[in-house]
Amino acid sequence: MLDTDFFRRWMTAAAASVDREADHLTDLDSAIGDADHGSNLQRGFAAVKAVLEKDAPATPGALLALAGRQLISTVGGASGPLYGTLLRRTGKALGDETEVTQEQFAQAFAAGVAAVGQLGGAQAGDKTMLDALLPAAEALALSFDGAADAARAGAEATVPMRARKGRASYLGERSIGHQDPGATSAALLVDALAETADG
Ligand code: ADP
Ligand code: MG
Ligand code: MG
Repeated sequence: MLDTDFFRRWMTAAAASVDREADHLTDLDSAIGDADHGSNLQRGFAAVKAVLEKDAPATPGALLALAGRQLISTVGGASGPLYGTLLRRTGKALGDETEVTQEQFAQAFAAGVAAVGQLGGAQAGDKTMLDALLPAAEALALSFDGAADAARAGAEATVPMRARKGRASYLGERSIGHQDPGATSAALLVDALAETADG
């Protein structure tokens, strides 16, 4: 079973990973965006970590919803509302259980990923975070490590894609040949999840 502390540890691991990889994420965003993805997420996840040190949400659902609200209020870029929606919607789908099964979490995460698609209007193949999140959500029902692998492969698969959503889409064909920053950070978040599950 996955308890509230599991999700707290996931958010802490995600914050550490985003911190480590911030320069890389910003470099990717400088090629096809506005060079702020690393600093956007660094600011957002630092705020998530800070609020979780202060508040003690009683359930996994409440914890993820709080983290999502924090991302929405602290990240100015497109990724803030999108990741915020992912976590809020996932949290909402978990209801007020104090512990959830991996299968319940996988279903909730899939609902969160679907909400990202609804909010941003992107689909698989549009060269966005969804290209990592969708395969991860599918694999998550089976294993955390499988989800991390699927997200990483999904992020790498964005290199030859032409962006159809977000700032990178303004570049048209010139977006081809670069890995999408949001798909890359999505893979980091799922990797932090697998790390947390592995203990
Ligand atoms: P901004 O583009 O506002 O500077 P960020 O640099 O933080 O925001 O995030 C950019 C990332 O957000 C992109 O690499 C992409 O993965 C993701 N993104 C942008 N627009 C969308 C969208 N409509 N749907 C899904 N993901 C998107
Ligand atoms: Mg940007
Ligand atoms: Mg920006």
